Amino acid sequence: MSSVNFTKYDAFGFDMDFTLARYELVPFFNMVYDCVRKYLVEVKKYDASIFHRLQEDKELIYKGLIVDFEKGNILKLGSDGVILRATHGTQKMTAAEIERDYGAERKFGDYDIFKNGMKSIDSKWRFFENYFDTPGLVAFAKIIDYMHKAGTEEGRTTFEHIWKDVLNALEDMYIPSQYAQDKGAYFPEMKKNIGKYIDPASQQIKDWLKSLRQDNRVVFLLTSSYVDFAHLVMEHVFGSEWKSLFDFTLYAGRKPRFFTESKPFSVVEDGLKLGGEVKSLTSGGAYCYGNHVDLMDFLRETTGKTDPKVIYFGDNLWADAWPSKTLGKWDTVLILEEMDAEGYAVSDGTVPGHEDEVEDPDAPPKKRKRKYEHSTLVTDEEIELMVSEFWGSIFIDDSQAAGSDSQDQSFTDSKTVNTAFGNLIGQFADICVPSIEYLAGVPVDHVFTTFSKEPGNSRGFHPGRPRSLLP
Ligand SMILES: [Mg+2]
Repeated sequence: MSSVNFTKYDAFGFDMDFTLARYELVPFFNMVYDCVRKYLVEVKKYDASIFHRLQEDKELIYKGLIVDFEKGNILKLGSDGVILRATHGTQKMTAAEIERDYGAERKFGDYDIFKNGMKSIDSKWRFFENYFDTPGLVAFAKIIDYMHKAGTEEGRTTFEHIWKDVLNALEDMYIPSQYAQDKGAYFPEMKKNIGKYIDPASQQIKDWLKSLRQDNRVVFLLTSSYVDFAHLVMEHVFGSEWKSLFDFTLYAGRKPRFFTESKPFSVVEDGLKLGGEVKSLTSGGAYCYGNHVDLMDFLRETTGKTDPKVIYFGDNLWADAWPSKTLGKWDTVLILEEMDAEGYAVSDGTVPGHEDEVEDPDAPPKKRKRKYEHSTLVTDEEIELMVSEFWGSIFIDDSQAAGSDSQDQSFTDSKTVNTAFGNLIGQFADICVPSIEYLAGVPVDHVFTTFSKEPGNSRGFHPGRPRSLLP
């Protein structure tokens, strides 16, 4: 369909982390980086001086990059697979260096694999698009820098072993069993100081979830987080009565595998205990693992529709939008905080006080300078973290040649999304918004225009085009 109107759906699925639960990015990023650093120094015996001075590498922190573990390079790709900008470790690569590593056409060799599933078949690269693992990208780059300086980089044909160490650090933090055992640096800290890292939801969001559930519509949670951690987060975000906001809750969903594999659901008993496997769900129930086919059977039963219309809200292209759109045949909403960091035009009529700015989404952006806004949710510190002068905008890149200093051409011409990440958003999301808080302030029957699947199309951004796409 070419528009999204929430009252036309039968069921609403929600991701938890960075979707319903809004994280305080700056303390969270620093804490995760600290956990990674600690593990690498204490367990893997890296030199502690490698990881000092995170502040100096802030420009490196950015969503939507690919790390090439073989070559030790970090890449920003265009929608044609061409490498737009790159670093080796944290050091900017010149056009000549990019060509030396990737050939005269500067094309990322696995681009077709990337754009159809965002995952390397042989773990030679990884797509970074969330703040759970981006601190690992920074640690990896800093180790490469250190090797370069120490002269130990010479003659290396791959840096995959370095990534393995960093990955071990991330696994030590996030393996679900660490929560109950109070192990690893991450879960004990989250238990102790969750208020430092995650914001409670506003009454507006709670009311909005309730309004979605009217007229027999179903609202459910589908998170990859395990039951114990999810309970901690949901209780902090929505209060002790949080379960009353959902018709049923699904944990440890193993997205995107939830959509590709047929692992059965396991029932969660007495809040936390894992019971036996079940073939069918019941309303009000709580389950772990599971799969899309059994979930759809239940949704048919509970909604009474032969083909229930489902829409899923998530912040992750690879784990949320891509599988639910292409495999699950659900409609999708992508939550992208970077829209808020960059600022957006308030042009679709959903932001009070800007009614005069409503524009036709099919018309090209007007030539005059448009006003843009940040919501009150995003802090200056967060903007600084999410926006990177070095990498440029997530949506558009004006330097087709990295190493070229020309920055001026496209800021006067028509603005079309031309990055790989920006285009994947338009492919796999129907609409893209800065936050759940924003959606909760819009009447539930509002009609949102969706991305057409034309490359570069930007009509699915709400409340309006990101700042970098404005003339
Ligand atoms: Mg998430």
